[in-house]
Amino acid sequence: MIEKAQLLLEEYYGFTSFRTGQKEAIESVLQKQNTLAVMPTGGGKSLCYQIPGMTLEGTAIIISPLISLMKDQVDALTSYGIPATYINSSLSFEEQRDRIAGLRQGRYKFVYAAPERFESSSFLSTIKQIKLSLIAFDEAHCISQWGHDFRPSYRSIVQTLDQIPSLPVVMGLTATATQEVIQDIKQLIHVEDHSVINTGFARDNLSFRIIKGRDKRDFIVEYLGQRASEAGIIYTATRKDADHLQNFLEKRGYSAGKYHAGMSEQQRKQVQSDFVQDEITTIVATNAFGMGIDKSNVRYVIHYSMPMNIESYYQEAGRAGRDGEPGDCVLLYSGQDIHLQRFLIDQSMMEEDKKRDEFRKLQSMVNYCHTHMCLQQYILDYFADPNIHDPCEKCSNCLHEGEEKDMTREAQMVLSCVKRMGERFGAGLTAKVLKGSSDQKVKQFKFHNLSTYGILSHYTEKNLTQFINFLISEGLLTPGQGRYPTLQLTERSVSVLKAERPVTMLVETTTSEADVNYDVEKFEELRSLRKSIADEAGLPPYVIFSDATLKELTIYIPKDRDEMLRIKGIGEQKFSQYGQAFLEILTGWAENAVERPPLPTQPGLTKKEPRKPIDGASHEESFKLWREQNLSIEEIAEQRNMSEQTIENHLFRCMREGADIDWNEWFSDDQEEAILMAHSQLDEKKLRPLKDNLPEGYSYRTIKAVLVKHGYMK
Ligand code: ADP
Repeated sequence: MIEKAQLLLEEYYGFTSFRTGQKEAIESVLQKQNTLAVMPTGGGKSLCYQIPGMTLEGTAIIISPLISLMKDQVDALTSYGIPATYINSSLSFEEQRDRIAGLRQGRYKFVYAAPERFESSSFLSTIKQIKLSLIAFDEAHCISQWGHDFRPSYRSIVQTLDQIPSLPVVMGLTATATQEVIQDIKQLIHVEDHSVINTGFARDNLSFRIIKGRDKRDFIVEYLGQRASEAGIIYTATRKDADHLQNFLEKRGYSAGKYHAGMSEQQRKQVQSDFVQDEITTIVATNAFGMGIDKSNVRYVIHYSMPMNIESYYQEAGRAGRDGEPGDCVLLYSGQDIHLQRFLIDQSMMEEDKKRDEFRKLQSMVNYCHTHMCLQQYILDYFADPNIHDPCEKCSNCLHEGEEKDMTREAQMVLSCVKRMGERFGAGLTAKVLKGSSDQKVKQFKFHNLSTYGILSHYTEKNLTQFINFLISEGLLTPGQGRYPTLQLTERSVSVLKAERPVTMLVETTTSEADVNYDVEKFEELRSLRKSIADEAGLPPYVIFSDATLKELTIYIPKDRDEMLRIKGIGEQKFSQYGQAFLEILTGWAENAVERPPLPTQPGLTKKEPRKPIDGASHEESFKLWREQNLSIEEIAEQRNMSEQTIENHLFRCMREGADIDWNEWFSDDQEEAILMAHSQLDEKKLRPLKDNLPEGYSYRTIKAVLVKHGYMK
């Protein structure tokens, strides 16, 4: 049957090969096994139900909460000559009736239906009578109560399905699902472990950035100035912010529309269509905008303030670059954002348990804004992505040009201050005490008598708050579970206090000589060259060379490759990609220069090593528990409240980094040989086909361990 699928792929879609996960998902559905496909946005989920739908006998019902996308999908199928239709509330009563009649007569291979259709008795009685090929839940995370976009009416369809006498194979598809959500969906629609096709969440074409401490409007004006013709979305947390920002941009001559739930449906439709048709380039919107926007060439998504959780953030930011071309995802962070989100959760009608859960998720979002690890890795780790990823080398943390500074002493001071304050207060008051503030509240609690009062008075209160947030993101402090964050020490903080664990932090390099002495005119010339290279490569300019690098170029004016490699931020790789274009300008300057200052002496002296990968300590901590306390992966997962997969990845990572282990604990010689043999024979070096080519009883864990040992798994 899979041969037929391959033929359909070529014949109908004109694609030569399947993308990762598609073949497995299609195969699983064709074998009538309920299936869950977890693939990133743009990964090609539609094909996973369309090809089985074309192959199997009967009508496929695709349930989707995205009404606006249904028409596009149906149009695409119809254009291939495949009978398809959709039934939702956008149709008149007569149209709905006609389409139901067509459904009853078996006229369609595909019917897209909105969840509320399942409350309609005529629709239900019709699908009970006809031959169905499959039922697919698109955006399946919406059926999970743990999902960030839970829709109870969507979930209740699962029970309704029990009324269908000959229920066909059921599948779920989603791009955003934590392990919790995956488990929930699996249980709901009865998917076995081996029928979960999880290709991970990575979107390699996206670059993530966090901007702190800048005036948000200034940043946006500067940003849009560089990207005037590109389409982008700016998300605000409130309608009021959307109104004000759009007004502000319009006054400055930008073509910006707005979209939020306070506008009339007519207005919203108009803006959406203007945006899709490229009539306006920028949309300032609340999170009401997006579900169902199928504009593939969105080049950037800016968050004007921090959203409520990583799930929403990744989904919204993920609207950039759906066409596979580069997308820029910028989050403008300010400390106040947290208060707004806390307030929103607090005011919501949720049960207490659920609220606590939301506060926990919010904290992960806050940690994202303060972490110093690769941002993409942070997100993938959050979703317990099954694959191992190197740092992305293009997020703001990977590209950070600061230096790593030992902050152990400062961390110890903060931690002991928290301890002395009784672990009952938040970051704000703790920062005041450390600063030595004469604030009323400090006096009221007599904190000015503490030995840690004013102990870090040479920092600003704002810096101290940021540092405390950084310590939280590193797991050295916890803000507690309640609605008001109260700092408490963690197990890890004890080892910092005992000086067993160092704390390092990336700090901004102080203003360099280059910042002061650079040549403004030359800088502008290089900047415009950088812009044209960036446009051609479809990359944000700062990924080519940073401003600091351009400034150094205008000072030292290197005239050849060797000299250029001595400039901060230029390595072999960058030189081979972009060096020549810059040299063409630089050599001209060098010839005319009366005098050039001596170049920095040692090549690479000021060059920054790529950021150490994520959770530097986290994977080591898992390894320690495994090695020193002899805990199993399952036990560590439980103790650390992480998924088994994450812990497994932690251990593998330590092994790849050279941890000395006894491989016999992981596999026997025979297993090793069989796995290596199967691996050498496969064209597609992926886990699933490898497992399929081995006898029963070879677990993914065993296979991965062999691949890690032999360096086949990066
Ligand atoms: P998703 O629903 O996962 O976001 P889509 O199903 O909309 O993704 O597919 C995204 C894009 O990728 C579409 O333009 C689709 O035609 C294209 N695509 C899907 N599968 C393949 C494939 N095997 N080869 C090439 N392009 C593909």
